[in-house]
Amino acid sequence: MNRFSYVRARDVQGAVEVVSANPSARFIGGGTNLLDLMKEHVTSPSHLVDITRLPLNGIEDTPDGGLRIGALVTNSEVAWNAQVERRYPLLSKAILAGASPQLRNMATTGGNLLQRTRCYYFYDVGTPCNKREPGSGCGAKAGFNRIHAILGTSEQCIATHPSDMCVALAALDAVVRVTGRDGERTIPFADFHRLPGDTPHLDTNLRPDELITAVELPPEGFAAHSTYLKVRDRASYAFALVSVAAALTLDGDRIQAARLALGGVAHKPWRDPEAEALLAGRPATREHFQAAAEALVRDAKGFGHNTFKIELAKRSVVRALEQAAGQEGQR
Ligand SMILES: Cc1cc2nc3c(=O)[nH]c(=O)nc-3n(C[C@H](O)[C@H](O)[C@H](O)COP(=O)(O)OP(=O)(O)OC[C@H]3O[C@@H](n4cnc5c(N)ncnc54)[C@H](O)[C@@H]3O)c2cc1C
Ligand code: SF4
Repeated sequence: MNRFSYVRARDVQGAVEVVSANPSARFIGGGTNLLDLMKEHVTSPSHLVDITRLPLNGIEDTPDGGLRIGALVTNSEVAWNAQVERRYPLLSKAILAGASPQLRNMATTGGNLLQRTRCYYFYDVGTPCNKREPGSGCGAKAGFNRIHAILGTSEQCIATHPSDMCVALAALDAVVRVTGRDGERTIPFADFHRLPGDTPHLDTNLRPDELITAVELPPEGFAAHSTYLKVRDRASYAFALVSVAAALTLDGDRIQAARLALGGVAHKPWRDPEAEALLAGRPATREHFQAAAEALVRDAKGFGHNTFKIELAKRSVVRALEQAAGQEGQR
């Protein structure tokens, strides 16, 4: 590990000032991703700004009937929070599908949003990687790409975004609240993460000096009809090959509204409004679930080892919709 200095931030503005004054400084939350990246020499910040004592660790109601989760609330605290379990069970389930209890006890809400891809070539500094070193090439495209993306890829990068929590937040239309040198702003979840395009080194639209202070959930939590389905190589402690956050509002057996977000398939949690529109106003039947699944993967492209994900994603979407509608096991 390289040498670095360490400061513990006392307030949000002070934390932002240190990081804006030094492009090589980084905030550190739980440290469960950043420290690994430093040990592997993928990143070498000169300063670490410890934000864990900032007053961003509450979960509270918002005036519009939603819920605000502070950036420093741990993943365990969010998943087991009574309000989250009751009103947003999709979020609770997605978090508990990720990592291990020990990691979830350390990992923070803000850090989870910014965890970096698990692409093996990104972690191996002896191989080319446009995300780690722009312009060096991509080891994964013609390499071993079993865990890589099938949607929204670019010539430059085919990495996937690894977070489970973010897939649920995308389906729930969460909003990210941030503070930077120029003040506060909010970023809709759909605009928070980026596709790789020609700038695969940028994972998000967060500015370098901005601190995530909270994630806000709208009032609609789809508590009656939602699920998180995660397909992975082992039953626990593994990242998703494909995951689906499915949420429905039903009037009898008719779908009023549908949300579908996919994990493990793209550089960001994947939403497709056209696929969701195919469900709205229609009966909650397997035929319509399959039509939505086909639409979701219509532009998917495999790179050899990961081509199986196209069929896996389709089947996972159908199964998740059946679970959300309460139909699984009825056939
Ligand atoms: C073995 C292992 C298995 C895992 N399995 C899964 C899994 O199955 N599913 C899953 O979703 N995750 C998994 N994870 C990832 C884990 O969830 C993340 O490492 C964790 O959520 C990161 O949170 P953190 O607070 O520790 O972030 P840190 O490591 O502290 O920070 C991560 C990044 O976020 C930045 N940052 C942190 N907080 C803020 C903030 N408030 N504002 C701005 N920038 C900030 C840091 O500068 C850094 O760049 C796994 C991790 C490990 C080590
Ligand atoms: S897929 Fe992206 S992260 Fe992986 S090697 Fe290629 S450029 Fe790097």
